[in-house]
Amino acid sequence: MHEIRIPSYVEMLLRELEKMGHSAYVVGGCVRDSMLGKEPTDWDVCTDATPEQMKIVFRKRKIFETGVQHGTITVRSQGHNVEVTTFRLESDYSDHRHPDQVKFVGRVEEDLSRRDFTINAMAYSPRSGLVDAFDGQTDLARGVVRCVGEPDVRFREDGLRILRALRFAARFQFNIETETAYSIRRNRLLLENISAERIYKELQGILSAEGASDMLLGFPEVLVVIFPEVERLMGEMAEGGRESKWTQSVRAVCGMPRASFGLRLAMLLHELEDAEVHTAMQRLKGDHATDRLVKTIVAELRQPLPDTRPEMRRLIGRLTKPMVHDLLTAQCVVKAVTGQSTDKVREARYLLEEVLDGFAAYTVRDLAVTGAELMGEGIPSGPGLGKVLEQLLREVQDEALKNDKDALLKRAGEIF
Ligand code: ATP
Ligand code: MG
Repeated sequence: MHEIRIPSYVEMLLRELEKMGHSAYVVGGCVRDSMLGKEPTDWDVCTDATPEQMKIVFRKRKIFETGVQHGTITVRSQGHNVEVTTFRLESDYSDHRHPDQVKFVGRVEEDLSRRDFTINAMAYSPRSGLVDAFDGQTDLARGVVRCVGEPDVRFREDGLRILRALRFAARFQFNIETETAYSIRRNRLLLENISAERIYKELQGILSAEGASDMLLGFPEVLVVIFPEVERLMGEMAEGGRESKWTQSVRAVCGMPRASFGLRLAMLLHELEDAEVHTAMQRLKGDHATDRLVKTIVAELRQPLPDTRPEMRRLIGRLTKPMVHDLLTAQCVVKAVTGQSTDKVREARYLLEEVLDGFAAYTVRDLAVTGAELMGEGIPSGPGLGKVLEQLLREVQDEALKNDKDALLKRAGEIF
């Protein structure tokens, strides 16, 4: 296990708390990531000081009262924001997602006991060393995600933990401990109580992770709770009859760049009907760009690839250049996982390069003449003007006409 090196802007806060007689630790994700030898994204501090006491300790610093009722204040330190939270217990999750009460407690071990997984339930301070009440260190070394306490109880408190388990396991390529895994399957319907926004965020983490396919194939019943539409893919054989459409879709997901969540999601859903994809995306409430990307890619995958320059220009006009790029990437991956030749995709890529090389018009806005200029030539505004522009665009894309102002004005006069 790697050594935990606390940056000075965090260490200062620990010392300031300790100087006033409080105990203070870094805790959670930053301890886990440090021990794995990964750079933590942020450092969280926990302490026995209450928010009121923290305000006294940090009276000379800029603070933000971000979540005082939950015991959290954000403290500014050397240009960084650090969240400092009072040791606390949570109780009574009557809605399976929000604790009804938080109770401030005096011992760090109590605070660790409310955390979700053993690898996330360790605290550290240079003075006290590692506090590891649930043997997170062993699980970290063995590569295991295990609930703190009784898995059934912990998932019933907060169903989102089901997806968090999958996300951490996918991210570190860990296994999910047997009892925790059984409990995830048993309690999967608890995810129905979780808001779309929170599910969406976890799904992003799972799909973009190194170990996405192990989780998608290992916990298909969990995915079915999020996307009931995919259940039938698990029972349908892909062409060739060697694997299910689901397995094939998961392979396609992993063929996509990890950074593009939209493309990975499109691959996960690409065997569904357009209407099913629409329903699934509506339920997911993702951002607009991802929504459009997924729907477009899935729909366009069924269309034949353009094989002439005019067709390619029209496709760019309809989808935009980056989306055509994405579509070709998707086409290539789908062909590869279904064992088809990718020659046609390669040809389409050349075609795309060729078309992008020349100065071409993809939409009427790219024409070297504007509607106003045509009006200046005596063509009245209205639908007629739009038709003239469309016609000019078609002829430019067909290479029957040069995208050059004089040529366009002359031709507009003829059309009109
Ligand atoms: P990441 O790098 O993904 O942010 P993280 O471990 O920091 O990982 P956070 O969601 O930022 O995860 O939460 C910080 C810590 O708070 C976790 O390590 C865990 O101890 C605790 N925690 C967060 N969410 C939950 C939850 N739903 N149930 C129990 N404990 C949680
Ligand atoms: Mg975090």
